[in-house]
Amino acid sequence: MTQLNAGAATDVGRVRQMNEDRFLVDERIFAVADGVGGHQAGEVASQTSVETLLREFNEGEHTVEGLVAAAEAANQAVWQLAQGSREKRGMGTTLTALALIQTDGDEELALINVGDSRAYLLQNGEMIQLTEDHSLVEELVRDGKLTPAEAQVHPQRSIITRALGMEPVIQVDSWEITPYAGNRFLLCSDGLTNELSDERIASTLRQLADPQEAAHDLVRQARAAGGSDNITVVVVDVVDDDDRSKQASAALATSATSGATKSAPAAPTIATAAPTIEQTGSRLAPAPEARRPALAPPRPEPPRRWTWRVVAFLFMVLAVLGFAVWAVAWYARGAYYVGIDNEQVAIFRGRPGGLLWFDPTLVERKQQPTGEELLPAQRVELDAGHEVKSKAAADRYVNNLRQEVEARRATTTTTTSVTTTTTTTAPPTTTSTSRP
Ligand code: MN
Repeated sequence: MTQLNAGAATDVGRVRQMNEDRFLVDERIFAVADGVGGHQAGEVASQTSVETLLREFNEGEHTVEGLVAAAEAANQAVWQLAQGSREKRGMGTTLTALALIQTDGDEELALINVGDSRAYLLQNGEMIQLTEDHSLVEELVRDGKLTPAEAQVHPQRSIITRALGMEPVIQVDSWEITPYAGNRFLLCSDGLTNELSDERIASTLRQLADPQEAAHDLVRQARAAGGSDNITVVVVDVVDDDDRSKQASAALATSATSGATKSAPAAPTIATAAPTIEQTGSRLAPAPEARRPALAPPRPEPPRRWTWRVVAFLFMVLAVLGFAVWAVAWYARGAYYVGIDNEQVAIFRGRPGGLLWFDPTLVERKQQPTGEELLPAQRVELDAGHEVKSKAAADRYVNNLRQEVEARRATTTTTTSVTTTTTTTAPPTTTSTSRP
C-alpha cells in the first residue's frame, strides 16, 4: 500500500475581504481551487469544483482518465451554476488535484491542472514545477516575449487563460507519476507563488518534516511577504511506496555492478527515488497545442481575472483625474484680473501669472487710463494683477480707476489755473472748464 500523509492551510491574506480559495484533503485525493468572480461567485465556483471532484472521483474509476473525468464533471457543475444566475455568470476557478490511482495493480499518482494554481515535486532536495500555468504571462514567456523574471512581477500575472466554469468543455492537463517514499508534493494557489520565490518555498519544504507544519509555515511566510491574495497550500508526503524505492535501488545497484546501466530492464536507472512522470494528455488526445484549435469556436477573449474590479478601478482613477483637471481649470479660468498690457490698463481672464498650464488671456485693453497716468501704488498693484470675480467687476474697477485719474487730472488743472489766476488776478474758473 502506498501511504500518503498530508497537511493543508489556507488564509484570506492581508488585502482581500473573502477567501475564495478552497482545498481538498481526503484519503486518496488532494486539491487546490482558486475561485474567480464577484458577489461570492468565486467561493461558489471553488467550493463546487472540489465537492464535485471528490464525489465524481470516488464514484468513478481510480485512473488518470477517472481523475480527468472528475475534473470535467466539476467544470460542468460550475458552468451550469454560472449559467443559472446573472451574478454568477463569468465565475470560474482553477483546479489542481493529485490522486492515488491504480494502474495494472500498481498504485500510482495522477495529477491534473487547469489554471494557474501549481503542483511542485520535492525529491532529493530538489524542487521542480510539475504543472504549466494557463496564464497570459506564461503564454508570453513560452512565446519568448517575456522572461520568467519579468513574468514574476508582471501587473497582469493573475490573468488566467483557462479556468473551470468558463466554457462547457474544458481542456485538462494530466500526468501520471510513480510515487516514491520521500517524495513531497506541493499544491498551491498563486497567492503563495506570487509572494514567495521557488527557492524560499523549496527551502521551507526541506526544513519542515511535518507536512501540516510546512503548509502552515508557507502560508505564514506568504502573509508576511504581503499577502495580497488568498493563500492556499496542500503538502502531500509519500511515506510508504510499497517498497518501490528499495526495488529501484536494488535494480540500480545490480545494473551498476554489472556495468550494464543502459540495458537495465524495467526498473528506473536514473536515481533511487526518481519518479516516472508521464504527461498523459497525449494518451487521451493530441497534444494541448494541437488540440486547441479543435476546440471549435475560437474563444473570443481569454477569461480575465478581476475584470470588473480593474474596470471599476480605472473608471474611478479617470473620474478623480477628470475632476481634478476640471477643478483646476475652473479655478484657473474662473476669475478675471486687471493688469497692465503694453502700458495700458487691460482686463485678463485667468489668474495673474497663470496656473499650471492655464495662461491668462487678454480680454480687453482699455484706452484710458494708461499705465503712466496711474499713481505708483496703483501701478504696483496692477503690475501684480488686481483680481476680481467677473468681467463686470473688472469693468467697474477700470471705470473707477479712470474716473479717479480724471479727477486727479482735473484737480491738477484747477490748481494750475488757480496759480495762473493768482498771478493774473483773474477770478478762479470753475473746475468744469477743465473737463475735456
Ligand atoms: Mn489567487
